[in-house]
Amino acid sequence: MAFSETLKLKVKKRAHFQCCLCHALGVEVHHIVPESESGPDTDENAAPLCPSCHETYGANPDKRKFIREARDFWYELCLNRFPSDAHQLQTISDALRKVATKEDLERISVQNSAFVLGQPPESRRLSWEHLHYSFIREEYIHPLIVRELLGWISDPGEPVVAVDLSQANRSNRFFGEFSVHEHGPRPLLEWKGTEGEFFTYSLIATSPSGVHMGECYDCGGGSGIFGRVSFLAFDSARSLDVNDSGNLFTRERILLKALGSIGLGDRYAGEIKYSNGLLIIGPDEGWFRRGEEACQEMPVR
Ligand SMILES: [Zn+2]
Repeated sequence: MAFSETLKLKVKKRAHFQCCLCHALGVEVHHIVPESESGPDTDENAAPLCPSCHETYGANPDKRKFIREARDFWYELCLNRFPSDAHQLQTISDALRKVATKEDLERISVQNSAFVLGQPPESRRLSWEHLHYSFIREEYIHPLIVRELLGWISDPGEPVVAVDLSQANRSNRFFGEFSVHEHGPRPLLEWKGTEGEFFTYSLIATSPSGVHMGECYDCGGGSGIFGRVSFLAFDSARSLDVNDSGNLFTRERILLKALGSIGLGDRYAGEIKYSNGLLIIGPDEGWFRRGEEACQEMPVR
């Protein structure tokens, strides 16, 4: 047996994606009592270690107690480092509770207007399954494009609301390699910066109107890991361009648009799913253990 992907992610989030011994970024989840000695695949037997500490201490049975103590101490430090920002979720939750009519629901539900408005759906609808760019297969949309659309941690809002994918995915603006990890049914895209920064994105689901809901975690190099659910949609638009002979022409742009996002707070760990037109954010079992307090439902058409 091995640790489940869910447990591994939970352990990593709880440890701020840092080694519990040396606090380096980039960790593997290690069995304290090894699998060869029937060590179980449980939280209690899991420790987030960097490759170097794993090599130094991992195989030494005398260090098991030490690893466990250091891990628990690190978890505790992580817990106390940042306040939770449950406030935003509470506001949305209060608004939802006041919803009375179908019109109200229509007004607050997230939907892709490119699909809903204007021409009949069949002619307007962009078939995202067949687009060149995707969150779940090649050619992957660069995680930094998603981060740009969400706004950076330091931004007051979302200053950029649409990106031309054909240009942006090859632009220097969104530089840096990113990796694709197995993560439940859909991959997790991870970009790492030079100073401990990272950003991860994984698709939760796509609504019938084409709202792509993603679970995102942003770390600006400090120790906070801020989670958000992003609502993104594809759209197309005509743009003006100049060819080599200096003549103007138009081309079709594939846009990725931001419809908004919901904050999950620092180091959220819970289940987020989409079912019957509702995005459901489950209880927080992360380090802040906000539990039921974190639960939210959001209509997404
Ligand atoms: Zn280490």
